[in-house]
Amino acid sequence: MTRRRRTGRKVRVGFRPNRQQPGRTADWTRRYHQNQDELVDTRLSESVRAKGELSRKRTVIVGDDDVPVVDESLWEAGTVTSVHGLVCRVDDSGGRAWDCTTRRVLRTVLIEQRSPITVGDRVWFSDQSAYHDGERVGVIERVAERKTILSRRDRRSREHTMAVNADQLLIVASIAQPKLKPHLIDRYIVAAVKGDLRPVVCFNKMDLHAATPDLEDEELDASASSVEQVIEEYRRLGYCCLRTSAIAGTGLDELRDELTGHMTVFSGQSGVGKSSLLNALQPGLNLTVQTVSVESEKGRHVTAYARLLPLDFGGYVVDTPGIRQFDLWAVDPGELEACFIEFVPHVQHCRFSDCTHREEDGCAVIAAVESGEISPRRYYSYLKMLREV
Ligand code: GDP
Ligand code: ZN
Repeated sequence: MTRRRRTGRKVRVGFRPNRQQPGRTADWTRRYHQNQDELVDTRLSESVRAKGELSRKRTVIVGDDDVPVVDESLWEAGTVTSVHGLVCRVDDSGGRAWDCTTRRVLRTVLIEQRSPITVGDRVWFSDQSAYHDGERVGVIERVAERKTILSRRDRRSREHTMAVNADQLLIVASIAQPKLKPHLIDRYIVAAVKGDLRPVVCFNKMDLHAATPDLEDEELDASASSVEQVIEEYRRLGYCCLRTSAIAGTGLDELRDELTGHMTVFSGQSGVGKSSLLNALQPGLNLTVQTVSVESEKGRHVTAYARLLPLDFGGYVVDTPGIRQFDLWAVDPGELEACFIEFVPHVQHCRFSDCTHREEDGCAVIAAVESGEISPRRYYSYLKMLREV
């Protein structure tokens, strides 16, 4: 829970152009219906300076994080489950869904901070159902400080926040159709560590194990590795590894145990079986399962936006759009080596403190690769990511 702030400092917030006309002083309901943000809430600790047509700014009391100070006890607490333009779907503590807009003054602050409301945000909202024939409609007044942020780089090289406040990243990989891509798992692990989420690797489609044991990874000597070796490699690194089949129904109890009571982001290439696994765990979700063309093994993109799905057995799942290429956001080389858990004990023995473990003399990481302590596959994976960051 975020601390309640009684004190704050004053900031001047500009009105949008349509706020430049001083509002009418009465007829609140009609004004509310014209524009929800026009409703003046006397409980909001802001003072509006009405100096006629010239007043284009107002003073708002904000806390350390530049968000308006409000009395949280007056409002409902909720969790944002999906965002559709300016309207957010919010689940209250009783699990009821509300359609919420955002108080304009808060939206202005969030736009300035470049941190729009995202799936997983904990918010406080005011109940506006009285103005909407009892329908569950609200206005978001406050966003809680985020515990974790999971981001990736989008096609325009900007940060794209996929989810906030999640505590686990479930990395779903299929052992075949599409082929297992260990480098992609490594990228997701880096994103998880960077975002402060616990990575859990789920190897799905285990029913296809005997059929296609090979891997897709150009640096990989296919003869030396198998699906089993890859799973064993992640297990030895200490990561929780699950083996599932959504079709055969195996490993689902273990998966359910890992998800219970957590907010877990489901990630992984399109077609690996994320929707199938969720449907198998909770049939009521009725997620669309796509058909994968066997020749291309590509699968179509189905989930268009991230959403938070409440689990009957406790917890939430963030269903993200299938991201084939997972581009890392704002990871520097120093952070990258720290995300390779098996490098950590060695880096302090490198001759140069700024060693990037590429080709430097006296590199303890390279020595560990040569002695077999670090897997060459993971080392190549690191080099591939290093080239990008
Ligand atoms: P998503 O894109 O990750 O959500 O993947 P889907 O759940 O849509 O599944 C893609 C395809 O893989 C569908 O044709 C599923 O029937 C199939 N599939 C999912 N899980 C399994 C599994 O455990 N075994 C096999 N053989 N096929 C699966
Ligand atoms: Zn080194």
